[in-house]
Amino acid sequence: MNAPPVRCYIGLGSNIGDSRANIVEALKRLDEMPYLTVKAVAPLYRTAPVGYIDQDYFINTVAEVRTTLTPRQLLDGLQQIENDLGRVRVIRWGPRTVDLDILLYGDQTINEPDLQVPHPRMDQRAFVMVPLADLNPELVVGGEMVRILAGLLAKEQEICADK
Ligand code: ATP
Ligand code: CA
Ligand code: CA
Repeated sequence: MNAPPVRCYIGLGSNIGDSRANIVEALKRLDEMPYLTVKAVAPLYRTAPVGYIDQDYFINTVAEVRTTLTPRQLLDGLQQIENDLGRVRVIRWGPRTVDLDILLYGDQTINEPDLQVPHPRMDQRAFVMVPLADLNPELVVGGEMVRILAGLLAKEQEICADK
């Protein structure tokens, strides 16, 4: 019955309103989720928006959590936080305030229409791999060590420590 807790990594991002405050609030709510504990949080990073100049910069980080929730229960919980924060802060039908993605769920691979783990685009994104490397540089993702990927991506994509 009582499955052992699984180590997961959650990617967080925001570029609407007070992005830093949104991330901090999302992390608080993440830690308040039942059957889940936040074990570590990487520093916050600032990423320049790509495409629209008008868009605000992003604040991103990654959290390491331990949970006995199933992947789907975890996804539901993350979407609940997205909805709750969106509802209080963002104009109706506006974009979401925070984005919470399941990057890794232990060493499980999940391929369902609405849930793919490891997150399929994580190894192409500096804003994911750089904070992930702060937490676990030796972790292997897609056959490559996270700190190697982070180093390569940080040269191609604009990312800097927040403040
Ligand atoms: P990206 O996935 O490229 O980072 P996004 O985060 O902006 O894009 P969303 O609009 O937040 O995309 O999510 C769309 C759907 O992605 C969600 O409704 C969810 O069902 C699905 N999804 C699939 N895999 C995952 C995952 N690992 N973590 C979170 N959502 C996922
Ligand atoms: Ca995302
Ligand atoms: Ca998402």
